[in-house]
Amino acid sequence: MFNVIVVHFDELILKGANRAFFERKLISNLREALGKDVFSEAAKFVIYLKQADDISVIFEKLKLIPGISNFSGAIECDANIDAISAAALSIVQHYQPKTFKIETSRSCKKFPMNSMETNCEVGARILQQMPNLKVDVHRPDLMVCIEIQSKKAFVLGKKEQGIGGLPVGTAGKIVCLLSGGIDSPVAAFSMMKRGAKIIFVHCHNQTINQSGVEQKIKDLVSCLSRVQGKSILYIVAFDELQKEVIAKIAADSRMIVYRRLMFKIAEMIAKKQGALAIVTGDSLGQVASQTLENLEVIYEATDMLKFSPLIGTNKREIIDIARKIGTYEISIRPHEDCCSFMISKHPETRAHLEDIKSQEKNLQCSALLRKAIKNSRAQVCARAEVATEGIAPSS
Ligand code: ATP
Ligand code: MG
Repeated sequence: MFNVIVVHFDELILKGANRAFFERKLISNLREALGKDVFSEAAKFVIYLKQADDISVIFEKLKLIPGISNFSGAIECDANIDAISAAALSIVQHYQPKTFKIETSRSCKKFPMNSMETNCEVGARILQQMPNLKVDVHRPDLMVCIEIQSKKAFVLGKKEQGIGGLPVGTAGKIVCLLSGGIDSPVAAFSMMKRGAKIIFVHCHNQTINQSGVEQKIKDLVSCLSRVQGKSILYIVAFDELQKEVIAKIAADSRMIVYRRLMFKIAEMIAKKQGALAIVTGDSLGQVASQTLENLEVIYEATDMLKFSPLIGTNKREIIDIARKIGTYEISIRPHEDCCSFMISKHPETRAHLEDIKSQEKNLQCSALLRKAIKNSRAQVCARAEVATEGIAPSS
């Protein structure tokens, strides 16, 4: 029944002179995600459907693309009251609601009826055909929106909520320190939602990690590529750095030093990639490395801008988002993180910068860091085709 999908964008409207840039970015992101052409029309985008298209597959994809406020299956028709009424009737017949409401907006005021008159006329014609239906202007089961332009009109079916935010690529690049856990993929997603393109860095100890870890990391990145498009993943060999740490750093401080080294690695890759910040999945107090004292010492490792968007978020809330974006099922696959390797059972919870720095003086890290970056494998992960609930509450 639908011949198009109509997409409304989110905060782009606020961006004044930059609006064209944000729109172009969202259009190119949509084209990449859907493999379809996307047209800009009076404050919306229009995607033409072909017979063979499965609209639910396209909806799944749209639910994860930052910058979209809402979208609907719709009928594009001539801008005359007969065509508009027929389209509205078939949409109401499709959803079979008990109550409905028509809401018209006109970007072309030459249409012979004003919005209110159009609502009444289309509503009356539908009621003639479906006499058991009722109008409810406050809480209708189905709202049918009509958008009238100069030569054509769009009659919209049920609105699906997008995730909102800004199109990926409008806010520059950020490096995400990606562990195999639940939190860091969600942290990456939060920054994508605000327009950042994420470059992923995973520190990997080949000698302890089963080969499954690497596949798990790739699967996480492919899953997140549904949000931001093709993604770059660096897998950095951490073994030699860890050996050095184990040889020279007290067991209860090793976690702190591992994480400081990861920040240094992230910074080096960020500089290479033109990224301006680092994002992690830290959540205050969640594990020993995330006390305020330890975070202060860990975050001192680089001067680069650092974000921890989950810092005030509870595990339960993080899990809810992870489920919605599809990373949860991948994150819970068992794996051993290299961070947990050879650390004390009771790691330091109140690290002192002076103490950590004086222990670090014994490390021969500069050459090892350079070598780790040089030997790291950068790969491109394409988007995975995984069905998810979608992040937005359904309308
Ligand atoms: P996650 O936070 O991703 O669920 P986790 O809870 O096991 O994993 P920690 O081990 O406390 O997290 O690590 C905190 C943060 O440090 C992670 O969110 C991630 O940003 C970073 N990190 C931890 N391990 C690695 C790793 N092996 N490679 C890259 N970054 C890592
Ligand atoms: Mg965590």
